[in-house]
Amino acid sequence: MGDAAGALREATQRLSTISDSPRLDAELLLAHALQIARSELLLNLPQLEAPAQFASLVERRQRSEPIAHIIGSKEFWGLDFQVTSDVLIPRPDSELLIEEAVRLFAPTPPPRIVDLGTGSGALLLAALHEFPQARGLGMDASAAALQIAHNNADALGLADRARFVLLDWAGADWTNSLGSGFDLVLANPPYVATGARLSADVAGFEPHQALFAGKDGLDDYRIIIPALEKLLSPAGIALLEIGFDQAKPVSRLAADSGYHVELKQDLGGNDRLLVLRR
Ligand code: GLN
Repeated sequence: MGDAAGALREATQRLSTISDSPRLDAELLLAHALQIARSELLLNLPQLEAPAQFASLVERRQRSEPIAHIIGSKEFWGLDFQVTSDVLIPRPDSELLIEEAVRLFAPTPPPRIVDLGTGSGALLLAALHEFPQARGLGMDASAAALQIAHNNADALGLADRARFVLLDWAGADWTNSLGSGFDLVLANPPYVATGARLSADVAGFEPHQALFAGKDGLDDYRIIIPALEKLLSPAGIALLEIGFDQAKPVSRLAADSGYHVELKQDLGGNDRLLVLRR
């Protein structure tokens, strides 16, 4: 394949038609092919050769397969998470939930945390990483997702404080199996309107179960928000990720259930998070 710098340039050009970050993508794929960190790749670029396997990784990306699926992992909150097509790929925007949790619980960390629709476990495990005294419960309707969450808890050394439960909130009385008195409820539920057009890498590769939530994308909030009454401790706080255009309708659902609501924006300036308190 030749010298690494030239291979990177060529791959960047190829990927520019399908990706918003072609150079970064190429670097991540080449670092993966070389089994080194991206920082190491960049530092030693002039001395490195691109292995033959790099070309096939670039071809997969050209067919819109997400980088996280090709390399099998994604960084979230500075931690490395195993990722497959069974879980939503953790997004940088969702780090806002952890940032807020850290800010809100600075004086008194939350002893008990629950993550509704935990997927890869990213939110729960990042929170447990930040709050070393906390214990956490991750629920998900997908057994395959929970296997990934388990693996991540193990790999991050958090398995002794994390528990996972297979549970579908479409069922009646689902909160019974979770218990109550949680100081912090985290949730990044499915919130995309069914039929919305998503980019090829999302629509073609990520689990639709974790994305779509009915005609207006609000179906899962309609279940989760009324359930908070049972889940939250008296002073508990719920952090709900929302779509950029959902602040109004989801705030209304929360207010209807008697919550005080605060809206937060992500780094891109989009509405992304609702903080709910009794
Ligand atoms: N933010 C995701 C997207 O990019 C949606 C995640 C979700 O539905 N919870 O489409």
